Amino acid sequence: MLARLIELWKEPLPKDLERIPARVFGDSPEPHAAFMSVRHWPRGERMRRGFRLSFKILFPIMLALIPLGVLEPFAFMIWGSIAYGIILFIAGPMLFAKYYGEEYSFFAVETPCPRCQAPGPLRPYVSTRLEPEVTVLCGACGQTSKARPEIADSKPESETKPE
Ligand SMILES: [Zn+2]
Repeated sequence: MLARLIELWKEPLPKDLERIPARVFGDSPEPHAAFMSVRHWPRGERMRRGFRLSFKILFPIMLALIPLGVLEPFAFMIWGSIAYGIILFIAGPMLFAKYYGEEYSFFAVETPCPRCQAPGPLRPYVSTRLEPEVTVLCGACGQTSKARPEIADSKPESETKPE
């Protein structure tokens, strides 16, 4: 049951990931060449993703508050409505805006860890937003490294492939 919940919680890897070249920076000044799996989200998908991920984060928090409300229903009517108001009208729109604004995401950097040499891949650390420099986490040693996608001037083109 718990494993199933965690499985539901994790964002599934999109099927149509695109590989772009990247450089990974660790302890040595020389960056490693690597590949990054990225995904462009068209508008409609960004909206769905924004709703889904915000809901996944906020719904458990809202559920977790209910037992506290049962303990002291009268106090809960006051602070509960404030808490739910903040969640629904402030945190919700902020999270939605964060994910809706994420036009390009990255999901993995295919490289050995520059710190412990574990085979990788390295995963996004905290944020999946693709930026000129991103932070990645090594699952083996728990250290973070920096990676830079090598995007000439343009962003990765996933939509404009000739048929
Ligand atoms: Zn490592």
